[in-house]
Amino acid sequence: MRFIEPHGHMVSRVTDDYLDMVTAGCAAVCEPAFWAGFDRSSAQGFYDYFCQLTEHEPKRAAKFGLPHYTWLCINPKESENVTLAEEVLAIIPDFINRPTVLGIGEIGLNKNTRNELKILEQHIDLAARHDQLILVHTPHLEDKLKGTRLIVDAIRNETRIRPERVIIDHVEEHTVRIALDAGFWAGMTLYPESKCTAPRAIDLVENYGNERLWMNSACDWGVSVPLAVPRTALEMRRRGHSLEAIDKLIFQNPARFLGQCPKFKLPTTL
Ligand SMILES: [Zn+2]
Repeated sequence: MRFIEPHGHMVSRVTDDYLDMVTAGCAAVCEPAFWAGFDRSSAQGFYDYFCQLTEHEPKRAAKFGLPHYTWLCINPKESENVTLAEEVLAIIPDFINRPTVLGIGEIGLNKNTRNELKILEQHIDLAARHDQLILVHTPHLEDKLKGTRLIVDAIRNETRIRPERVIIDHVEEHTVRIALDAGFWAGMTLYPESKCTAPRAIDLVENYGNERLWMNSACDWGVSVPLAVPRTALEMRRRGHSLEAIDKLIFQNPARFLGQCPKFKLPTTL
């Protein structure tokens, strides 16, 4: 089996996780910038985080032969503080041309507030000005449907952004069509309980097909499983999906989306 982990918060993981992922066939891991589990007190905290994502984590992954890529932004939760968010937005261009930066993400909304929306629009403008891919975080639970619609509208209002260069992540049964119908990609996040479990994700694939769709584990600092993607692939096998269909979903699709950024390269030995 080969797979790409297109959304993993590896700074939260131990080296055994890297070893397990590579052993299971992981060919590359991509790490969006996100909330650290606590609010950072200054833009300097984000500067250090961006250094960690672009300098230190790729070196740690390389020890296991795994290419590590990243995305940059201030996450929606901390975007509620507009002053802080604008300071962080101002330092992103200093990092954007680094060799492992794939785009702007994971941006989006958390509680669908005016402040979050204002900072989301500034991120979209930043992506447009620098011709960057966009990775979107959608809100949780009762905020997800409204938040997904607000995000999709905000991106569609920006004519410089082509929809095929945007992935709406954390989709569920009630939001997947909103993303796909607008021409975006959609990501399913495999959590043990919330977001998508493996059976729910496979149901979604069976209902909506496997075009412009990927799966990720998020594997962050909370309850999450770094091997969720290959384990879901095994579950797909049990449910009769072909090896080719599984390979498309967990390897070819993320490779196609991420390959729109010329910096994204896979090991040639796969
Ligand atoms: Zn995330």
